[in-house]
Amino acid sequence: VKSYLSRIRDNAHLNAFNEVFEQEALSRSKTIDARIKAGNAGRLAGMVIGIKDNICYKDHKVTASSKILNGFTSIYSSTIVERLLAEDVIIIGRCNCDEFAMGASNENSYYGPVKNYADTSRVPGGSSGGSAVAVQAGMCHASIGTDTGGSVRQPASFCGLVGLKPTYGSISRHGIIAYASSFDQVGPITRSVEDAALLLEIMAGADEYDSTLARKPVTAYRDELKPAGSKKRIAYLQESLSSPGVDDEVKGSLIGYIEKLRADGHTVKPVAFEYLDYIVPTYYILAMAEASSNLARYDGVHYGYRSPAATDLLTTYKRSRSEGFGKEVKRRIMLGTFVLSAGYYDAYYAKAQKVRRLIREKTDSLLEEFDFILTPTAPEPAFALGKTEKDPVVMYLYDIFTVQASLAGVPAISLPAGATNKGLPLGLQLLAKRFAEQELLNFSKYFL
Ligand code: GLN
Repeated sequence: VKSYLSRIRDNAHLNAFNEVFEQEALSRSKTIDARIKAGNAGRLAGMVIGIKDNICYKDHKVTASSKILNGFTSIYSSTIVERLLAEDVIIIGRCNCDEFAMGASNENSYYGPVKNYADTSRVPGGSSGGSAVAVQAGMCHASIGTDTGGSVRQPASFCGLVGLKPTYGSISRHGIIAYASSFDQVGPITRSVEDAALLLEIMAGADEYDSTLARKPVTAYRDELKPAGSKKRIAYLQESLSSPGVDDEVKGSLIGYIEKLRADGHTVKPVAFEYLDYIVPTYYILAMAEASSNLARYDGVHYGYRSPAATDLLTTYKRSRSEGFGKEVKRRIMLGTFVLSAGYYDAYYAKAQKVRRLIREKTDSLLEEFDFILTPTAPEPAFALGKTEKDPVVMYLYDIFTVQASLAGVPAISLPAGATNKGLPLGLQLLAKRFAEQELLNFSKYFL
């Protein structure tokens, strides 16, 4: 704990943490040390982690990196925090992120942007950028993020780490600040596949507070982890190599792995995904619609920030929300409200639901034919801070490879896949069938 705390101090300029629980972590380490000596410690005894600042932890502040939750203290813990603590994890602090997890660069935070440890002029990815940099820069052993459309996988890829988004319905969302509820999933960011397997195993499984969870027993992912024995069938999207929007070094890394997989006897085939152009618009219509509904609760009365200029109920709502939410969050609330409004609902929201079904069915049918789908995690390596400032759509389009798994609800993992000439980390993504996490983790060992 002491060594992580000193790394945190030395790297304060990266802005990875919104708050560090220094005293708590130190005193907890003593308690756990005693338990280790007594031989009754949990499976995570000694593991020091950071949690994204949209995960509730009883009697601790939680802000989702928004001004509107500034000063808010959670009165209960999320299910995942309870499960991690029960196994003697040490939570060292809450990690910076994009406001309400909306973004792909961690620049939309009320507490300022996070910087990539590999190159501080570049973004760490987002929205779980602080969680990724905390691990990348050695400020904790592993971290927990949330992934709605790529927020665990893409920052893991920008920081050279392993990022897992489990099957929708694997991990409880109870106590996770909601962004888009039909997509949101918690996921670990780690250096190894072993740690990802162990953290998944401990966090996953039924919870009476989340009715969307599968009621099946949780696999012992960590103990069952072994390199995949048989030869696999792998599909890759042909557009990931043909599209001019994909960086040459990203393509080079993908080609390298395709050739290596083939040389090792696996079947790797290009496939066409005819809905590729609809993936990003469908995701954003649905995610914004759900966000506009989820964020209606921040009214200046129930939680956090209330405008001092409010004089009556209506100005309490208007002023608190106008002053409390950042620009990107407001944009999404307005667009989400628009696509749900009478007259536009059928043209946008209902249509996007239908296209989501098509994307899900096509993804499922590919995963019947193949064991995995292989893609780059992101079309470019970590980009410069400020690059997407003028045009939010540029940033939305960067999600092209990550949102497919989110729309389909299937598991996906981002794995480190070398670096660019300038030393920026590259990542590759694998998608698998729903609840095929064990196969996914086993095959991930091939890359690491
Ligand atoms: N970049 C995507 C968005 O802004 C995904 C974010 C996330 O997964 N939370 O919605």
